[in-house]
Amino acid sequence: MGKLTIIKHVRVFDGETVSGPKTAVIDGSRIGDDSLADDPDPSAVTVIDGTGCTLLPGLIDCHVHIRDAAQLASCASFGVTTVLDMGCIPPEKSVELRAARGPTTWLGVNLPAYEENSRHGKLFKLFGGVTPDHAVHNTDEAAKFVQDRVDEGVDYIKIIADVPGHEQAVLDRIQAEAEKHGKLTVAHTAQYAAFERSLRAGFDVLTHVPMDKAVDETITERMREQKTVAVPTLSMMEGMTNSWVLWGISWLTLSAERNRSFEAALQSVAGMREAGVPILAGTDANNSGIMTIAAGKSLHHELELLVRAGSTALEALRAATSLAAHHFSLQDRGRVAPGWRADLVLVGGKPDEDITVTQQILRVWSAGEEVPVTAVTRETGCAVM
Ligand SMILES: [Zn+2]
Repeated sequence: MGKLTIIKHVRVFDGETVSGPKTAVIDGSRIGDDSLADDPDPSAVTVIDGTGCTLLPGLIDCHVHIRDAAQLASCASFGVTTVLDMGCIPPEKSVELRAARGPTTWLGVNLPAYEENSRHGKLFKLFGGVTPDHAVHNTDEAAKFVQDRVDEGVDYIKIIADVPGHEQAVLDRIQAEAEKHGKLTVAHTAQYAAFERSLRAGFDVLTHVPMDKAVDETITERMREQKTVAVPTLSMMEGMTNSWVLWGISWLTLSAERNRSFEAALQSVAGMREAGVPILAGTDANNSGIMTIAAGKSLHHELELLVRAGSTALEALRAATSLAAHHFSLQDRGRVAPGWRADLVLVGGKPDEDITVTQQILRVWSAGEEVPVTAVTRETGCAVM
């Protein structure tokens, strides 16, 4: 038995439901069995009074763009212990982030597949970091793109399904090749037409929601049938609605995304939820300077927005823990149960009743190691005994 941390009298959200007050145990890098607390060696034990607090699995942000290892490390101080990076520009940066052994785990797609003259193609050209060689122009290049990413060791395959953008045959080929390699596909879909085309291609995860027109039953039923997963990134959709800079860029790049409605985004999430589509928490955190969203901190706002779109607080918590882990095949995390990785967040209060309580962060552990917390916003109990 290694060093134990015993948290007493704490409510526990195990990834599904809340129980307790009870005892929770951290045994090295894993969550231990409660019985370890019965007769511990006092010299190797830290005991914390969790009265009035709730213990959660470490939070997972399913859509980020991380700038560097320092920013990655700071995510954990906000309880975000796993991030899924949905596009690294320049793509070489992914090597450094993948190798970072900080408190936050980075998984990513490296370079996304994009069409050279699409809105994103134009933006990438404008802000640098890619050459025309990086773009996917036809079905042969689609196959090569997937093979190259697989050779780099990516975790998922990302496609920017802009409209106008790739021909349907290119999208279909990316999906077919990714399936061959057993890779999950994630498609950027910020327009209604992009949803239609991406569902036709059969992509596994659709990220963003349209703001030109809310998704309707035709779309949500198809998502349910195809078991498509949604990562709406409401934080980004909200930010885009209010951004004059983005509005200007849309004019410059002749994008159809000029007509934006955050209400359409909220309606889309409500419709997906009603249809039983799994909805995961992702923020699109980035440092682009155009529409910057703070990594780590922003996930808590995303949870608030999911609740605003109709989710219960418990559903929002699942969206950033067990449900995210399940759909992105993270098999060691997202739950509080013996044997699981000890990525944990202790918050002061009941986040299952009031989602804003996730912001009352008292302590964070990553693989059993305590991480300094910077986001404490109020004094509560939970003292070391
Ligand atoms: Zn993104």
